[in-house]
Amino acid sequence: MKLSPTGFKLIKSYEGLRLNSYLCPAGVWTIGYGHTVDVQPNTKIDEKQADALLKQDLVKFEKTVSESDIKSVSVDIRNTKNMIDKACETGVFQPNQSILCNWCGYKTICPVWVK
Ligand code: SF4
Repeated sequence: MKLSPTGFKLIKSYEGLRLNSYLCPAGVWTIGYGHTVDVQPNTKIDEKQADALLKQDLVKFEKTVSESDIKSVSVDIRNTKNMIDKACETGVFQPNQSILCNWCGYKTICPVWVK
């Protein structure tokens, strides 16, 4: 399934751009929008090259992700949103502590962390 220009922009905005190679937290040399293949230390690229690398990285996903994959994820997201809406309406909120807590924007109000 071919990624739309909107999807391409969205991925870029989430991934963030780095024009100089750097070691990611996992210790892998990375550049551009999270590109890791054959990246060497002290490499510099421009934004056009970063776009090209991202397009190159996305090809394998475009080949493997189907329309039905997208639809099933959409259903999961819709179900999750419905569960969140229901929890907000009823006040019944049963959070489970996990590794996601490190990135969660609700940690300051979450019952797991606020006692
Ligand atoms: S902080 Fe609370 S709401 Fe957020 S991921 Fe952790 S348990 Fe869930």
